[in-house]
Amino acid sequence: MAGVRQLVLVLGDQLDHHSTALEDFDADCDAILMAEVDEEAEYVPQHKMRLALFFSAMRHFRDELANRSYRTCYVALDDPDNRGSLAAELARCVRKLEPEKVVMVKPGDYRVEQALTQASRELGCPLEIREDRHFMVSNDGFSEFARGRDNFLLETFYRQQRRRTDILMREQKPVGGSWNFDAENRSPLKKDAPQTSPAPHSFEPDGITREVIALVEKRFPDHPGTAEGFDYPVTAKEAAVALEDFVEHRLEHFGTYQDAMATGEPYLFHSRLSSALNLHLLNPRDALRAAIDAYEDGRAPINAVEGFVRQILGWREYVRGIYWLKMPDYAELNALDADLPMPGYMWTGETDMNCVRQCVTQLIDHAYAHHIQRLMVLGLNALLLGVRPYAVHEWHLSMYVDAVDWASLPNVLGMSQYADGGVVGSKPYAASGSYINRMSDYCAGCRYRPGSATGDDACPFNTLYWDFLSRNRNRLRHNPRMRIQFKNLDRKTTSERRKLRALADKLKVELTAETYAT
Ligand code: FAD
Ligand code: SF4
Repeated sequence: MAGVRQLVLVLGDQLDHHSTALEDFDADCDAILMAEVDEEAEYVPQHKMRLALFFSAMRHFRDELANRSYRTCYVALDDPDNRGSLAAELARCVRKLEPEKVVMVKPGDYRVEQALTQASRELGCPLEIREDRHFMVSNDGFSEFARGRDNFLLETFYRQQRRRTDILMREQKPVGGSWNFDAENRSPLKKDAPQTSPAPHSFEPDGITREVIALVEKRFPDHPGTAEGFDYPVTAKEAAVALEDFVEHRLEHFGTYQDAMATGEPYLFHSRLSSALNLHLLNPRDALRAAIDAYEDGRAPINAVEGFVRQILGWREYVRGIYWLKMPDYAELNALDADLPMPGYMWTGETDMNCVRQCVTQLIDHAYAHHIQRLMVLGLNALLLGVRPYAVHEWHLSMYVDAVDWASLPNVLGMSQYADGGVVGSKPYAASGSYINRMSDYCAGCRYRPGSATGDDACPFNTLYWDFLSRNRNRLRHNPRMRIQFKNLDRKTTSERRKLRALADKLKVELTAETYAT
């Protein structure tokens, strides 16, 4: 196989037969390299479900390439020659095949791009990094949007994309008469809500998936979570079924209950499509088309469809744009000087805070939590405590099936922890336990009381909320969107504030006393 023209490197989150790296593939003279490596599984200890998903999807993709008679060098995790990192495997393959150049789609992780660029330099073999056309907005397109702006509001970006793509537009006006229907998308599960939400279609593991689950269990026994009950889509065909299932059974109520949370309901009306999208098994354009068709056929209302379009055409493209615009400095940001370690209960769920326990247990079982659980329970807990933002990001990469650097970093550091000082969100998502009480049934099953901020049964979210405002007052006092929160803080007497401070200090020590080590 020596004398290859181009060697196409396909990463585990680039499983797209139509990618730019494969568009000029010539089966007579080109080859593909795919590698499962310890370094990617262990740079943060990854959830077993996530590892099983990646390896299974990669092996299915390998088999599809073989069906097309494409030459593929596939390095399995347990291959005795496996050198354990992408850079080392690239070097081994380049030395063997002597390609004229290596071609790949832009990775989703700055660290990986740097490592591979460095490896190709050392090998003296050119590396051509091609645009990732899975995304609807190119990096240049996002830079163009950002040029000359001091802030990068999602809303401005989103409207620009709606106009540019003509999605949900009629005669240059937004369909339904409004750019967003947020006010209709904040309902808790009240009595008139559907009594059950149809669970996502479950994909029974086939032989390949069972094989990788066994491999993961053997190789990474101490990693978080479990791969038992694995039922994620692992091929493009399955991802299409998952999309159809969502549009058919959950999209109708997606908008209304987008922010609701309920015990024993990990998915509610969410799509659970993020992992298929992030591995590129599902194209965002297909997801948008299916939702818009449902609106046009009268199968889903505008608040649901616009909400879904906003997430995919808006947020998903926006956070990727911010990531590449701001890296590598972005990862270092810590605007609120938060420096506590991530508490151990975020891995085990062993805490009396019922909301946190429910969400972490769900993560252990499914490697999934929906957006509002991420932002307003788990992220909020870390924000109020003052956990070091990058540690929160690393925990995210550990625990979520869909975690990828470009998505996690702006969501965690920016939206959830306000570490970027207002690039992604115009104010911190700081709230007391009342929010969780309003939007979920968690408080009913909790030993703490959502109405108390002091005393033995005080909800830790309340105590920490007031402490958050006090300790960040100087940093945030000029933010007009925080005015009401600080006004409420000012209503507390000096003695109340002193009491809250003492309790918060005690809580912070207790809650972070145990951290996690694999
Ligand atoms: P749905 O609620 O059904 O939404 C539909 C799709 O919209 C998602 O599949 C996703 O592709 C996209 N989407 C929605 N919101 C966002 C967003 N803020 N950023 C990017 N895409 C979005 N998403 C990831 O894909 N990977 C991550 O690592 C990730 N980390 C997050 C960390 C935090 C702290 C927060 C608050 C959000 C994070 N998100 C991340 C965004 C979002 O929470 C998940 O995409 C979503 O919960 C996945 O579930 P779903 O597929 O059921 O989404
Ligand atoms: Fe969470 Fe507080 Fe409610 Fe308990 S009382 S579930 S800790 S918000």
